[in-house]
Amino acid sequence: MSKHILILGGGYGGLLSALSAREHFGAAAKITLINRFPTHQIITELHRLAAGNIAEKAVALPLDKLLRGANVDLRIGNVKEIKPDERSVSLDDGGNFTYDALVIALGSETAFFGIPGLQENSFILKSVNDANRLRAHVESRIAEYSKTKNKADATIVVGGGGLTGVELVGEYADMRSELARKYGIDPEEITLYCVEAAPSILPGFPAELVDRATTSLQKRGVNFLTGLPITKMDGTTVELKDGSTFETSTLVWTGGVQGNSVVANCGIEVNRGRAVVNEFLQSASHPDVYVAGDSAVVMGPEGRPYPPTAQLAWQMGELIGYNIFAQLNGGAPASFTPVFSGTLGSLGRKDAIGTIGANKTQLKGLPATLMKEASNMRYLSHINGLFTLAY
Ligand code: NAD
Repeated sequence: MSKHILILGGGYGGLLSALSAREHFGAAAKITLINRFPTHQIITELHRLAAGNIAEKAVALPLDKLLRGANVDLRIGNVKEIKPDERSVSLDDGGNFTYDALVIALGSETAFFGIPGLQENSFILKSVNDANRLRAHVESRIAEYSKTKNKADATIVVGGGGLTGVELVGEYADMRSELARKYGIDPEEITLYCVEAAPSILPGFPAELVDRATTSLQKRGVNFLTGLPITKMDGTTVELKDGSTFETSTLVWTGGVQGNSVVANCGIEVNRGRAVVNEFLQSASHPDVYVAGDSAVVMGPEGRPYPPTAQLAWQMGELIGYNIFAQLNGGAPASFTPVFSGTLGSLGRKDAIGTIGANKTQLKGLPATLMKEASNMRYLSHINGLFTLAY
């Protein structure tokens, strides 16, 4: 009987694992991919959807179409429990699966760090649904503000000044004039904040690029509150570490990510909720389980974990497809040696920053914007997803 490869998650790591496994096995294995949405979501572009700057179908690609040529069974469902010792997986809807090799690629979850009221009173940006919800909410608040002039309704706060927060606030900066025009108010009446706990936004980025990002966004109306962690969210009141408070109807929390709880609690070896893997991306405790993307923690040569990024998840997925083939056919697995092409962050529609290449060449403005667009196109072309584009 042919072996069964079960892949959990249809994001970057899961989709690429499926495509790679199919390429290596041909028809010699049954491959099933389980995802909670019927779409492969380009989560690196969600900030654009949240601001209405991109069509939903450009960031939500139908998995059945992407997988059709690969002949992978697609199952839509939410993974409830993984039992690695029994080689079984169950879904919320009662579905049950067994496997010969498992790929866990369930991504990460938003970390709220136990900050009182934060989870209950904030928006997150982890899926197409989150982005759509946020967009509708912001519009409805500005519409309300135009009638009541309640300042909180025209105040948008992004909590966290990492790449997610900065890219989102950049979209809001560009969206301000359009929104104001639509609802007959002055753009200056819409207040934008980005609150960052560290002394500056984009911790870890070269100082010159941080300055560029800060200046570019400030010029378009973004107020930065740095060195000031959010300590509480009480209804519509944001409280900062210095005790100051302000009112907002829209707090978007982008303050960090943590391991997926299904993975953290399933009994495989984890480090802070993320699966510990060996050089072949096999679970350190269960060699028939492979882990791709944010669900795994991969240590770099300096003993520090690599950041959880889409480009890493993509590369992990591709290797896993091959390594499962090698494992099930008695071949030699290959080690994971990530290639870093760079990090690029948009600052709205027309500005961006980033570093590219091994020597981290700095890019700003148009070259960075074009490079970010090119890297997105390269990915879509790689997964044969360009036909779904609708800008
Ligand atoms: P992050 O962890 O990189 O950034 C979160 C930020 O929130 C940090 O700067 C942190 O200091 C701040 N923060 C934490 N607690 C806070 C508090 N109480 N109040 C205010 N600020 C607080 O998270 P992210 O931005 O979601 O990124 C997650 C990963 O995804 C990173 O590895 C990132 O590089 C990657 N990413 C990449 C891109 C891209 O390549 N364009 C885009 C988005 C995310």
